Amino acid sequence: MLTGMHIAVIGGDARQLEVIRKLIELDAKLSLVGFDQLDHGFTGASKEQIDEVDFSTVSAIILPVPGTNLEGQVDTIFSNEKIILTEELVKQTPAHCTIYSGITNGYLDQLVLSTNRKLVQLFERDDVAIYNAIPTVEGTIMMVIQHTDITIHNSKIAVLGLGRVGMSVARTFSVLGANVRVGARKSEHIARIFEMGLTPFLLKDLSTSVSDVDVVINTIPHLIVTSDVISKMPAHTLIIDLASKPGGTDFRYAEKRGIKALLAPGLPGIVAPKTAGQIVANVLSQLLKDGLEGRKEN
Ligand code: NAP
Repeated sequence: MLTGMHIAVIGGDARQLEVIRKLIELDAKLSLVGFDQLDHGFTGASKEQIDEVDFSTVSAIILPVPGTNLEGQVDTIFSNEKIILTEELVKQTPAHCTIYSGITNGYLDQLVLSTNRKLVQLFERDDVAIYNAIPTVEGTIMMVIQHTDITIHNSKIAVLGLGRVGMSVARTFSVLGANVRVGARKSEHIARIFEMGLTPFLLKDLSTSVSDVDVVINTIPHLIVTSDVISKMPAHTLIIDLASKPGGTDFRYAEKRGIKALLAPGLPGIVAPKTAGQIVANVLSQLLKDGLEGRKEN
C-alpha cells in the first residue's frame, strides 16, 4: 500500500487515468494537476492548479509518457491550463522526491540535475518496453490491414531490428502466416532469428533483401531505410516505421518514388490506451512501493 504518500500526477492522456485509479486503490494521497475538464471525479484525489500543490510533502511527481517539452510544459488533454514544471516548484519537494516520466529530454535532464532529484524513465525499462510491445504489435497489424489490399497470410514482410519491439512484431506476423524475414547487424540476433524459424539477413545487405517485399516494418531509430534501399523495393511496398521520431526512413524519397511510407508513433496509446495505462500503472506502483519500503528501512 501507499497509504499517506503524497503524489502529484501532472498532465497526460487517457493512460494516466489508469495510473490514477491504481494509486487511489493503493491509498496514496493524490494531487491531480491538469485534470480540471475531466468529468470523472476520483474519490481520494483532489484536482488542483499547479501553484496550489503543497510540493513540500510530495514524494513523487508523475509526468505523462512524453514528460515535458523543451520549455518544461506538460501536455494534458483534460485541461486548457498551461502547466510548466519549474525548477522553483521541484526545489520545494523533499530531497527523496522522485520524478517519473516515460522518456526524458534536455529540459528534464537539466531540471533533475539542478534540483538534485531522481528521474525514472519508465520506457527505458525492459519490462515496460516488452509489455508495451504487445499493443504496439496490435497497432501495427491494424495499420498493415488498413493500408494493403492483400492478406497478411502469405505476404512477404521484412522486419528491421530484433529489439523488444522487432522480436514481437516478427513473431506475431509469422504466426499470422506471413513469410517473415528479419534484418539485424549482430551475429547473435541472426542466430536468434534462425532459431525462431524466420529468415535472417544482415542489415548491410538490406538493399538486396527488399526486392520482393510487400511490407517493411522498421523498428530501428536510425536512418536505415535510405533512398538506395527504397529504390530497390517493388512499387507496391508499404513501409511502416515504428521507430521513435523522426523514424528511420527517407520519407521524402519514398514519397517521390510513390511508395507509401507511414511513421506510426504512439500506437499503444492509440489502439489500447487502457492496457497501455495499466502497463505503466503496474510498474509505477511497484516502484513507488519499493521506494517507500526503502525509506522506511533507512
Ligand atoms: P530496442 O529494444 O532498443 O531495439 C532497437 C533495435 O534497433 C535493436 O535491434 C538494435 O540492434 C537496432 N539498432 C539500433 N541502432 C541501430 C543502428 N544504428 N543500426 C542497426 N541497428 C540498430 O528498442 P525497442 O524497444 O524495440 O524500440 C524500437 C523503437 O520503437 C524505438 O525507437 C521506440 O521508441 C519505438 N517504439 C515505438 C512504438 C510505436 O508505437 N510506434 C512503441 C514502442 C516503441 P542492436 O542490438 O544491434 O543495437
